[in-house]
Amino acid sequence: MKVITLHEGRERSLLRRHPWVFESSIVSGKADSGETVRVQAHDGRFLAWAAYSPASMIRLRAWSFVETERIDAAFFARRIAHALAVRETLQIDGDGVRLIHGEADGLPGLVVDRYGDTLCAQITSAAAERWKSVIGAELLKASGAARLYERSDASVRGLEGLAPRTGWIIGEGDTQVTIREHGWRLNVDVATGHKTGFYLDQRDNRRIFAETVRQFGFKRVLNCFCYTGGFSIAALAGGATDVTSVDSSGPALAHAEAHVALNGFDPAQHRTLDADVNRTLREMIDRGERFDAIVLDPPKFAPSAAHAERAARAYKDINRLAFGLLRPGGALFTFSCSGGISGDLFHKIVAGAGLDAGIDARIHARLCAAPDHPMTVTFPEGEYLKGLVLVTT
Ligand code: SAH
Repeated sequence: MKVITLHEGRERSLLRRHPWVFESSIVSGKADSGETVRVQAHDGRFLAWAAYSPASMIRLRAWSFVETERIDAAFFARRIAHALAVRETLQIDGDGVRLIHGEADGLPGLVVDRYGDTLCAQITSAAAERWKSVIGAELLKASGAARLYERSDASVRGLEGLAPRTGWIIGEGDTQVTIREHGWRLNVDVATGHKTGFYLDQRDNRRIFAETVRQFGFKRVLNCFCYTGGFSIAALAGGATDVTSVDSSGPALAHAEAHVALNGFDPAQHRTLDADVNRTLREMIDRGERFDAIVLDPPKFAPSAAHAERAARAYKDINRLAFGLLRPGGALFTFSCSGGISGDLFHKIVAGAGLDAGIDARIHARLCAAPDHPMTVTFPEGEYLKGLVLVTT
């Protein structure tokens, strides 16, 4: 077993059970990509078993803080069984579920989503890459799923010195599957969809949106950055009769239209706009349009804190424009999935947007990712999705 020794004082983060060690914290020791190493403090004290990643700034990702634990197939079986047991307790209404959420499930760099009988994995660390076949076999055994597709095409893989890879790991056939969510049916293509195919993190927020539309009797809804129309289906399910879905991706909009039909809603009550959201909002303001409810769920404007300032301006712009399109008593469901924008900062940005638009609003709810995307107290980096529901006065 190779040993990695840290500089004096640099053991603190592992002692607090944060799973990352940066390259600058290491005094001595080297290993192959993904190899398990013993990490020790400058005085030889055991800190963790970790995976080594020679190409990455995040040089070590801890597997375990327990000295007697062995990192072997049984270890992965235990971690996977635990993650699945947590999902069982959540009683999720649907068969699209995030089974493994990386660091928060003790499996750094591994995301696994379940879509019915098909699993889709995204591997973004040398650590998980090294154990891929063990993890794959164990996932199928523990979940009872039939197939496992790999969507390891996220750009962060490059930081770990890993080439992109997509395709079936186990099984074969059609990459499109139909999942259930809150009684709706939604198509997911694990090969061509965003991320692993779908935005499962918004599942509970789509339900809350449907409930809000019903509760407030909203009829006219604008869904910006709609992707395959999840929030649009929620709006129609909640009783909206005039829903506009905007996205710059043609294929995503085709799915959104198919979803309206698949769920038995009237296509005359839904329209799609293949357009840039910012420009669309401005045009709608010029035309004097008004909506009862607006969803703003943009892509990640700030992948890290370094992008926060520019991203803040972009968030403020779209939120200001959306406020300008809401009728009094209307609701804005506004989100940021940027890890680089804190909940506090997002709140300030949205408040500033309201001020600029001359709109006052009360905070009806604060939203986050669905609980199958867990956050842990030891890994604040895991917190990314935040949302505000604002009702204008
Ligand atoms: N709300 C969706 C997920 C949104 S993902 C859901 O619940 O499933 C973000 C979407 O924004 C993507 O579909 C992407 O195609 C779209 N997008 C990115 N930039 C855009 C822009 N400038 N104008 C319109 N759509 C954009």
